Amino acid sequence: MTKPVFRFAPSSNGELHLGHAYSALLNQKMAHEYGGKLLLRIEDIDTVRCTPELEARMLEDLEWLGLQWDETPRRQSEHFDEYEKAISRLNEFGLLYPSKLSRSEIKQKISSFEEDTGEFWPRDPDGAPLYPGKERELDQCSQKSIMESGTQYSVRLHIHKALKRINKQLVWHETGSGNFESITAMPSLWGDVVVARKDTPTSYHLACTLDDALQGITHIVRGQDLFHATAIHRLLQTLLDLPEPTYHHHRLIRDKTGRKLSKSEKDTSIRSLREAGVTQADIKKRLNL
Ligand code: GLU
Repeated sequence: MTKPVFRFAPSSNGELHLGHAYSALLNQKMAHEYGGKLLLRIEDIDTVRCTPELEARMLEDLEWLGLQWDETPRRQSEHFDEYEKAISRLNEFGLLYPSKLSRSEIKQKISSFEEDTGEFWPRDPDGAPLYPGKERELDQCSQKSIMESGTQYSVRLHIHKALKRINKQLVWHETGSGNFESITAMPSLWGDVVVARKDTPTSYHLACTLDDALQGITHIVRGQDLFHATAIHRLLQTLLDLPEPTYHHHRLIRDKTGRKLSKSEKDTSIRSLREAGVTQADIKKRLNL
């Protein structure tokens, strides 16, 4: 049997908080229990918000927490060529199209639709409206002219065509509840997800799925907030013939009001806790680890 491989995959776009500490330390604990390896992946495809300074601070916090990695960390911004290849494959399957509407245009379109009709426009599991544009129906020539026009666009996966191509019910194996469960994946709930942008040849979903395969990850341990995204990851794995890891979506660490922690709140950042004299052992105790 091959050795289990775990990973912690933070974005270097802000300060790590207690929620990240929980995820990283739980990965470490499970890797230890399973006799597996633990890898680090820096998810920095957003090259504007992810800076070398923030990355250095993040690595320092992780070291302070006592984390060590069994291989050199992988930085996503150094692998855009690999994501491009995956995009080309999906494109060869005829599953991609360029979409022009910006976030604010989408918002505007949905509000007018809902106001005019009194009907509710469908949302994805994160609460964002499904893409209302019609570019998926354009012929190849018109799609090409969007990409050559110089305007911003996002590349979307034509979800119905993608599901037709795989033509089977997808499941994933989940241990987050403490039991080994088979979860039915419902990628269609996400509509036509973005897989790349004009200036970035990937999105979170594509880079994450591809890297998990390239790094040989067998066990994905991450927050409950990414539970539903797994449906898209299973779809991409199936389309690109990638192996299927096991998933463990853990509880989220919340603040006193029950809200999920955010990178902008300073009082739960690892750095401010460190500076206030909190020890690594205090953090583990607080997180029940
Ligand atoms: N980079 C993501 C985050 O910081 C996590 C991705 C994952 O674990 O799949 O939320």
